[in-house]
Amino acid sequence: MSEESFLFPPPPRPSVAIAGETRRFPVRRIFCVALNYADHAREMGKEPGAEPPFFFTKPADAIVADGATIPFPSMTSDFHHEIELVAALFAGGADIPKARALDCVVAYGAGVDLTRRDLQTSARKAGRPWDLSKGFDFSAPLGALALVSRIGHPKTGRIALSVNGAVKQQGDLGDMIWDVADVISELSRYVSLAAGDLIFTGTPSGVGPLAPGDRVEGSIAGVGELCVNVAG
Ligand code: MN
Repeated sequence: MSEESFLFPPPPRPSVAIAGETRRFPVRRIFCVALNYADHAREMGKEPGAEPPFFFTKPADAIVADGATIPFPSMTSDFHHEIELVAALFAGGADIPKARALDCVVAYGAGVDLTRRDLQTSARKAGRPWDLSKGFDFSAPLGALALVSRIGHPKTGRIALSVNGAVKQQGDLGDMIWDVADVISELSRYVSLAAGDLIFTGTPSGVGPLAPGDRVEGSIAGVGELCVNVAG
């Protein structure tokens, strides 16, 4: 379709840098898994692994590039960080068997699932959706992706986040309750996954508040790093 087919110019397609590549990863959708590390489930007052994985989404244009400065979000006084391994898909389908799930992943990255915790807590209590507690503007910082052809499929490795140089979160990818293959297989029972989909796979314990002026640094051993600043 030509530009003239649209009422106004289509919005730019969100994308993510790929380490060592000039080509970028075009983002279709962003899915997230809740409570995928036992120690984080406990800190949120939940029994780890008691129920199947629970999913929510963020809009594709919530993606924020490594090195960016983001505004402190409106409508919250409890703005939290959650460091997460992100799987980037270049294939998909429905009802993907666990044994074939990793074949859909082309790259991994270090991301932060930014959360308006106060809105999430009140939504949970009221039985309301999480959308605006999780899927707001600039809520999905994601570092450069590392191709599977270079790093393979990470099963273990330190995942950590610091704020202004002080370590706040650290865990190991091996501590996930549902591994990446489990997550893809389960999610594909609900939606047909496709190339361009990103999956944030959950956070270890130590989530906590961010303030204006904070510098947030995330890292996942063997995968990559990420830095974002909260505007002062
Ligand atoms: Mn999360």
